[in-house]
Amino acid sequence: MTEATTIQPTRSGDARICRGCWDQMHVPIPIRGALALPFRAFGITRSKMNPNICTICERSFRYVKKQSHVAASATILFADIRGFTHLSEQIERVRLSQIVSLFQDRCAQAIWAHDGIVNKTMGDGLMAIFNFPIVRKGHAEAAILAALDIQRHCAKALGSLQLDDLKGQPLGVGVGIHSGDVEIGEFSSFRSDFTAIGGTVNLASRLESQAQAGEILISSETAAQAGASVAGAAQRLLTLKGLDQPVEARVIVKRD
Ligand SMILES: [Zn+2]
Repeated sequence: MTEATTIQPTRSGDARICRGCWDQMHVPIPIRGALALPFRAFGITRSKMNPNICTICERSFRYVKKQSHVAASATILFADIRGFTHLSEQIERVRLSQIVSLFQDRCAQAIWAHDGIVNKTMGDGLMAIFNFPIVRKGHAEAAILAALDIQRHCAKALGSLQLDDLKGQPLGVGVGIHSGDVEIGEFSSFRSDFTAIGGTVNLASRLESQAQAGEILISSETAAQAGASVAGAAQRLLTLKGLDQPVEARVIVKRD
């Protein structure tokens, strides 16, 4: 175990003040307890992206940062249910929504436990950001630990659904992770859409699209930052859409 894996992150549910506002501005915004009540009256509540940050972090980016977006170093994680399109043609809607709820819930818990935010959910998929607004020095490793939790907890939850009619169609989650520079902020003029954009985000998404059920594909940049925790992970050369050169990725398969 490396040093970073032995330090347990603050568990979601603990923070009394918004960790995002504290890390970004050193301003204590109460999000739990009696002190949070007056803030709630002004519509400042805990964010749905992570219960340890507040809606100022998420909705008032321009106000907080005095600009519409900033450059940041971050790790981006994409996860989705493999073969979901095929699955949606085979089973009834009630069970499909049950699967999506389990997936979204287990993913969010794993991401929050490692200080990431669930930035976007897209039915059978999601995008998470690590190192903004909660600053996390070992953000590459935090994202990998979250991905391992996602794989473990989703496998357990999906396995409990007894989807016997899906013989030969293993139901599982694929994850892609990449670390690098991103632009973070609000990019729409007509609605609040706090997110990250740039090549780092695109590569993370493309890695995820190549991950098999149960696999976590991480870029060599993420692997280099995570250090010893990915030593021994298999290498795979990938041809990705829109990229001329093949990309070398590391493959981490979920541990039981
Ligand atoms: Zn905040």
